[in-house]
Amino acid sequence: MAGKIPREFIDELLLRVDIVDLIDLHVPLKKAGNSFKARCPFHTEKSPSFSVNRNKQFYHCFGCGVGGNAISFLMEFSHLDFVEAIEDLARFVGIKVPREAGQYQSNKQDYSDLYLILERVAIFYVEQLRHHVQGNKAIEYLKSRGLSGEIAKQFSLGYAPDDWSILASKFDVELLINAGMVVAKDNGGRYDRFRGRLVFPIRDKRNRIIGFGGRVLDDSMPKYLNSPETAIFSKGKELYGLFELLEKQSKPERIIIVEGYMDVLALAQFGIHYSVAALGTATSKNHLDLLFRFTSEIVFCFDGDTAGQNATWKAVQESFPCLKDGRQIRIMLLPDGQDPDCLVREEGVTGFEKRLHDSQMLSDYFIEFLAQELNLATLEGQSQIISRAKPHVEKIPNGIFREKMITKLNELSDSTGLDVLSIQATIDREITSNTAAFQIKPIKPEHVVLALLIQNPEMAEIIEEFVDKWDEISFNTKNGLLAVLDGIETNQPKNTGSLLEAYRGDTEKHEWLTGLANMEVIPSDNDDFDTKEAFVGALKRVIELGKKRYINELLEKI
Ligand SMILES: [Zn+2]
Repeated sequence: MAGKIPREFIDELLLRVDIVDLIDLHVPLKKAGNSFKARCPFHTEKSPSFSVNRNKQFYHCFGCGVGGNAISFLMEFSHLDFVEAIEDLARFVGIKVPREAGQYQSNKQDYSDLYLILERVAIFYVEQLRHHVQGNKAIEYLKSRGLSGEIAKQFSLGYAPDDWSILASKFDVELLINAGMVVAKDNGGRYDRFRGRLVFPIRDKRNRIIGFGGRVLDDSMPKYLNSPETAIFSKGKELYGLFELLEKQSKPERIIIVEGYMDVLALAQFGIHYSVAALGTATSKNHLDLLFRFTSEIVFCFDGDTAGQNATWKAVQESFPCLKDGRQIRIMLLPDGQDPDCLVREEGVTGFEKRLHDSQMLSDYFIEFLAQELNLATLEGQSQIISRAKPHVEKIPNGIFREKMITKLNELSDSTGLDVLSIQATIDREITSNTAAFQIKPIKPEHVVLALLIQNPEMAEIIEEFVDKWDEISFNTKNGLLAVLDGIETNQPKNTGSLLEAYRGDTEKHEWLTGLANMEVIPSDNDDFDTKEAFVGALKRVIELGKKRYINELLEKI
């Protein structure tokens, strides 16, 4: 049920997650002094200026200035909205997101009735598989394909009886039409979309049924049928089997993309629970972005026929913009006429996994594909492969993978066509690092106090010891400091990440606080720096100057 996520849960979640583990999963980190470093995933750079601090539960980049807590990282890195980031984070920690009932505030339309009807239809189809006289045919078919009752249950497989209006006789017809289950003709005729088929409910990653696939049990056509696009079902964004996969493993080492429902089921039957299928559509960038939220390696494993080869090349082209550092794609080419379903039956798990292990790296596949029918020993062949590669390589985000690809292509030929690209990458990098370079400015004591307070919320107690009358102290950032103290008292944050979370709704304040949280008061290479001492020193100075300024202001008024 949709509902507002309780504030306490978000605080709890931020306490349970360790930002170092979370980020390390996406961007491998190295320990450096009392923090962890990496090359920034948000801008291109040669030396690492992206730093993650375990005590603060906060990351920030000295190069481009990004920073935030675990939630911000997921939102930025995986392109998630706030709720999705909370959900992914909860999955990472292994807890469920609770919802406050009846407080759903969102300008998104509420499609809960569509989800509900599809859930009820799915249950109905499961019952038909077990009890309908024709359901037996579907069970026989599943048996003939070697699928167990357990797999049928795990994927909620069902049977749609060979009947034109059985759904309409049981459920609300308007809802069925909107959910894509009943076809409404212009002449007023209506009929069930799925008839006499084995049906596969399609779930989104949040375990909501969004559509169905159906397979005939005889030779009639079309062999497979999918739900049409509806308000809640978009084929280019969803993958069959993803929810079931994540139920088994929330952080799979790799995910295989296959062509069909039966491939996913057959692999699962053999204990390979990490495959998903695109739904009768080409693999899209959206699909890949979705999968890269959960894994760092994707393997394309399409059928070993011409259609499968075309699908592979299309998927490879889609993948280039997604290839940030730390992400990897491999290509598992199957023998002619084979599909993953048949292959795993013939060769077993060991054989299948051996092929998986030996699968091609994306860069090798790419170059081999482009080099087809070219003679790389000739100048013509060399210049042709460069011009074929260029538009694709340009789509790869700046980073190690792009550089390696360029090097690899340049090694193939004596020509220097791609040097243009590598030079461009260098220029991009220099511009970014020069303009955003961390500038050292003299820091005022009130900024030191604010920054250290945000970086160490527990220091709020120290302030109480030193200040009794705020009224008699005057300084520029006083209101800001009081607001932060107030926030700390109300929210009792355990670290910087938690403190900032309380201000997410207030963009201006959130940005201002993030800036202060990023401010490098403590030299990062100095382990012996006494934070408390620096804080108290700056605080005393603020009070001293603030009292003088207060008196001056009074005198001016008089
Ligand atoms: Zn950066």
